[in-house]
Amino acid sequence: MRPSELNPLFASALSLPGIGAKLERVLAKLVRGTGTDRGGSRAPLRVLDLIWHLPTGLIDRSLRPKLAGLPRSGIVTVDVVIGRHRPSGNRRAPYRVECHDDTGSLSLVFFHAHADYLRRMLPEGERRLISGRIEWFSGSPQIAHPDYILTAEEMAALPLLEPVYPLTAGLAPKVLRKAITSALDTLPHLPEWQDPALLAQRRWPSFTSALRAVHEPARPEELQADSPARARLAYDELLANQLALSLVRRQLKRAKGRVTAGDGRIRDRIMAALPYSLTGAQRMALAEIAGDMGSGDRMLRLLQGDVGSGKTVVALLALAAAAEAGLQGALVAPTEILARQHLETIEPLAQAAGLRIAVLTGRESASTRKPLLEAMAMGAVDLVVGTHALFQDDVVFRDLGLVVIDEQHRFGVHQRLALQAKAGGKADMLVMSATPIPRTLSLTLYGDMDISRLTEKPAGRQPIDTRVTSIERMDEVIEGLRRAFSNGARAYWVCPLVEEAEDGADDRAAAEARYRALEQAFPGRVGLLHGRMKAAEKDMVMARFKAGELSLLVATTVIEVGVNVPEATIMVVENAERFGLAQLHQLRGRVGRGAGHSTCLLLYQPPLSGTASARLKIMRQTEDGFLIAEEDLRLRGAGEVLGTRQSGLPSFRVADIEQQGELLAIARKDAALVLEKDPDLTTSRGQALRMLLYLFERDEAVRLLRAG
Ligand code: ADP
Ligand code: MG
Repeated sequence: MRPSELNPLFASALSLPGIGAKLERVLAKLVRGTGTDRGGSRAPLRVLDLIWHLPTGLIDRSLRPKLAGLPRSGIVTVDVVIGRHRPSGNRRAPYRVECHDDTGSLSLVFFHAHADYLRRMLPEGERRLISGRIEWFSGSPQIAHPDYILTAEEMAALPLLEPVYPLTAGLAPKVLRKAITSALDTLPHLPEWQDPALLAQRRWPSFTSALRAVHEPARPEELQADSPARARLAYDELLANQLALSLVRRQLKRAKGRVTAGDGRIRDRIMAALPYSLTGAQRMALAEIAGDMGSGDRMLRLLQGDVGSGKTVVALLALAAAAEAGLQGALVAPTEILARQHLETIEPLAQAAGLRIAVLTGRESASTRKPLLEAMAMGAVDLVVGTHALFQDDVVFRDLGLVVIDEQHRFGVHQRLALQAKAGGKADMLVMSATPIPRTLSLTLYGDMDISRLTEKPAGRQPIDTRVTSIERMDEVIEGLRRAFSNGARAYWVCPLVEEAEDGADDRAAAEARYRALEQAFPGRVGLLHGRMKAAEKDMVMARFKAGELSLLVATTVIEVGVNVPEATIMVVENAERFGLAQLHQLRGRVGRGAGHSTCLLLYQPPLSGTASARLKIMRQTEDGFLIAEEDLRLRGAGEVLGTRQSGLPSFRVADIEQQGELLAIARKDAALVLEKDPDLTTSRGQALRMLLYLFERDEAVRLLRAG
């Protein structure tokens, strides 16, 4: 149970004075980056969300030039006499107000102006202090929609320094400031959870003062990651993260493992049925896994390998080892499509080896589900492939020995923690990930998991020819596809996720529009796949593409995971500049799987920024997923690599892993020490740390503690 003192922070932002339904909607969009979630509904904005919306800049209103000395750009505050009003002649033209001082003149510009209001605010002949962003228009200075218009008496009230928040249209800075201030005012008195010695040594403020300071920067340095207030909050977040991961890990290790040593008979049969031999990296990973399973401790291992590096067969062989020892196994995929894909790869091999296999995705009818659950409970099934439906309460295994979670970075940390906790028992755990994240980041995501890496690509892979082209050359792209299709080629066309726009456009609409356009070019040969289609419809489209009835599959990023059509040799990604590199790399990995020469065409919308162009260049230069991840991190920063909505990875609210790696190391040690001395967080510091876990929404971890 969450301590009741924290309830006001988790209440809807509507509970704050001055925030009504309309403003709440605007704020939610601003703070969360999106109006609605993908299902069309959305969780209400909470007070806590506002508190974590941190400023990114600082406006300095101390610059007070004379009009003759106005800078080319930036924020200025000028002391002027109001001159003539020039109402606009038509709706499109702005309303202008001239002003001057003894050195020059300036126009104030207002669009969609209310004349009455402006006449009242800016009476001709009077002195006013005007603050806003200076612009030059045909050689004359102007300020459009000044931030402040103050009388001489009000001047003292002008904040000289003001934080700048990432803004969306339709929200005045003052309104956001007020909302955040009221949110901060709800902060209850909180006990200190950090070690006083550390606080003293680093000169870090308390949590509450740090939050206030971060929202009221007085100097630009205070916006830096290493300012005491920011560092304190980042450390809080990292400690919460490390504590949560340690608690999960402990929970998993707490139940004693068991020695699972198969005799190799099923594995031998699978190997004999494989049309290839394993790579060295696959063999090494299998040896590490067998070592873990054969020891008395529980396995907690991450199998990291690039797209196409052959993780599935490694998982299957590990599951076979469990079956040899008389135990059951589960392979959990993040999506239905991916679960079915795994089944397809695994089924023929399992059959050849005499493994009894079943699938459970939550889509089965009651009449199929019931006997299946019985078979699982009786031990008549060796291996179940499925989605998180496998973790429903009525699913019971006779003796679950190994759980493989293929996360392909679609499970958020929260979900994964829940899954891992639920898997419970003594089962060994293998998490597969295709995200080639650097070590520092993997620590924050997985804690101290053991890691096996598949660094080698299976033999016989064709390099993929990657090209970067402007979308303005669409006609050529279509002609190229036409030629390829006449030779029997198959292609994917990926449309990006689109932030939900005011007009209701979304990724589905974008994909549908593209589908219609391409269908005109290739009548009857184009299929469409997006996340909101029914599973049966998706399967049908996939099957037709696989069978070659369709040449072109237009899709949103749903195809990123789990599509394996070796005959497809062309991948077109539209608006490639909007994707994370890791994601582009994943998408590209969908081709180059068969014998044919493959091409990846990255279409961008010009103009391309310097960073965007550097990022796309990396895609052209290398197919090494680790290198791509490192470069992406260097170019964009950890916050973005982890934080993009599209990556599905969790983001930190304050911590910046790139700049605060040092703090991460301390947090790791600190978390270990805390849990060693106070394993269930029952001491007074422990109780305070529970608050911390709630404040950073690591609630799953709190549930793993014994009551106290
Ligand atoms: P990942 O899940 O790592 O992206 P998969 O397990 O889906 O990769 O493997 C991709 C393809 O490579 C599959 O078609 C699989 O049969 C094949 N494959 C796996 N291991 C090897 C190998 N050692 N040699 C050749 N092909 C392999
Ligand atoms: Mg796979």
